[in-house]
Amino acid sequence: MSIFDKFGAIASLRDDFMELGVNPFNVVIEEVLSATEAVVNGRRTILAGTNNYLGLTFDERCIAAGKAALEGQGTGTTGSRMANGTYAGHLALEEELAEFFGCPAAIVFSTGYIANLGILSTLPGPRDPILLDADSHASIYDGCRLGTGEVIRFRHNDAADLDRRLARLGERAASALIVVEGIYSMLGDQAPLQEIVAVKKKYGAYLLVDEAHSLGVLGEHGRGLVEQAGVADEVDFIVGTFSKSLGAIGGFCVSRWAELEHVRYAMRPYIFTASSSPAIIESTRVALAVLKDQGGELRARLWDNAHRLYLGLQRLGFSLGPETSPVVAVSLGRSKEAALGIWHELLARGVYVNLVMPPATPNSNCLLRCSLSAAHTPEQVDAIVEAFAALQTQVAAC
Ligand code: PMP
Repeated sequence: MSIFDKFGAIASLRDDFMELGVNPFNVVIEEVLSATEAVVNGRRTILAGTNNYLGLTFDERCIAAGKAALEGQGTGTTGSRMANGTYAGHLALEEELAEFFGCPAAIVFSTGYIANLGILSTLPGPRDPILLDADSHASIYDGCRLGTGEVIRFRHNDAADLDRRLARLGERAASALIVVEGIYSMLGDQAPLQEIVAVKKKYGAYLLVDEAHSLGVLGEHGRGLVEQAGVADEVDFIVGTFSKSLGAIGGFCVSRWAELEHVRYAMRPYIFTASSSPAIIESTRVALAVLKDQGGELRARLWDNAHRLYLGLQRLGFSLGPETSPVVAVSLGRSKEAALGIWHELLARGVYVNLVMPPATPNSNCLLRCSLSAAHTPEQVDAIVEAFAALQTQVAAC
């Protein structure tokens, strides 16, 4: 009996992938050409599965800020925020995030995953109820597992189900933390935030919104679904990431409660990991400034692309997520082999999308998850539609 025996099923799936010559879960970007193109398998390929919503990964101002920090402050902080890894840049970014969201408190983390781990493992105390949308991201589930709160799942985007579950908690509902996402990463659908806020208010509970996929994408100023829904005063915590619209890596939490600052010193995922390098922090600060100053233009381009792709695929009869979004998911059947074949054909046609298989999908079907960027040209979006059009028969049979 080997310690590796339990990975047998994964190993055989990987062997199947290797027969195709490319593993969909380990695609190598051999050369990055731009925010929307790369060389994959020796071929020039349109990147249609990044989270580079505003296309800022090649923004000259962000690159210049990163380079200057690298040269002036070195390659890394070599320590955690509490020990020796808080640089002036970390604090400046926290201030800028707090100002952007109009909140008194902000904390920067090394990744978005770690932000959820830190907050969700620490804020709810022993047996405090945490009400999670069933389709929550793995980092939200993992944060809860690391902590001592009691996880109660409610049906995806179903405020009535949330209401029923809070009602059953009696007085405990007032210390409950409700967790939803602005845009859900798999199907691109948005939380019914006004309805959720109404339920939250009814029970006096707390609400956390993960805006990982909606920062920069929704809201007049790009602050996310909370801004778009006009409920900023009712949302207690916003978590987000620098790895999508801001084109870098890192995470944050902001709150309308100044007491968030007290939580900083209790979060193991904050305390026991190295802080982000100066280059990352400085490029993120500039990306946030670009989002503030030119976010409107970039958002308009992003949404034009989203409508173009959604409509194009809808006209071809594909089964898509419930609403237009920069995440456009084509739903396939349950056959992993068939889904893999279609994904591979798309790649051979120069279009790289994300292949998502159950259990990572919300409905047990395989998904081809496309995501758009403000940096895509309309011609690139048309090329994505054409690649799918060529595979219509296979998708229908899948
Ligand atoms: N929350 C959500 C909803 C996400 O989709 C992701 C990443 N896909 C994260 C958190 C984690 O962010 P990061 O990749 O920056 O760690």
